[in-house]
Amino acid sequence: MATIFSKIIAGEIPSYRIHEDERYFAFLDINPLAEGHTLVIPKVETDYLFDLEDDLLAGMTVFAKKVALAIDQVMVCKRVGVAVLGLEVPHAHIHLIPINNLHDIEFSRPKLKFSEEEFRATAAKISAAIQ
Ligand code: AMP
Repeated sequence: MATIFSKIIAGEIPSYRIHEDERYFAFLDINPLAEGHTLVIPKVETDYLFDLEDDLLAGMTVFAKKVALAIDQVMVCKRVGVAVLGLEVPHAHIHLIPINNLHDIEFSRPKLKFSEEEFRATAAKISAAIQ
C-alpha cells in the first residue's frame, strides 16, 4: 500500500510543497516543531533512510542542503537542525527544522498550529528562496 508521502507526491493528498525535482520532494511538516519545519523525501518509496541506494542517499543530502539554505535565509534561526526519526511514516524522510536552541528540536514538545494561509505563505517564502 502506498504511504501517505507517496500519495502526497502523486498529488492525491494535499501538501504545502516547497520544492521538487525528478528524484526528491520537499514540503512542510503538518505538525511542525517550528515555522518552516520541512520534510525532504525521495520519490521512490523506501521505508528506511539507510536502505536507500548510495547515490540516491547522497543526492538526497544535496537536495536537502538546497532546501536548508533557503530555510536559513528566510526563517529567523541560528541553524537548520536535521533529524531522522521515521517512527510514524514508513517512507524515508529528513526533517529540516529552524532552531535557536536545543529545545526547538525536541520531538516530545507540543507541535505548533498554523492556519492554511500561514502554511501556504511559509512554503511560498522558502520556495522563493531556493537557488
Ligand atoms: P516520523 O516518521 O517519526 O519522522 O514522523 C513523521 C512526520 O511526518 C511527523 O512529523 C508528521 O507531522 C509528519 N506528517 C505526517 N503526515 C503528514 C502530512 N500529510 N503532511 C505533512 N507532514 C506529515
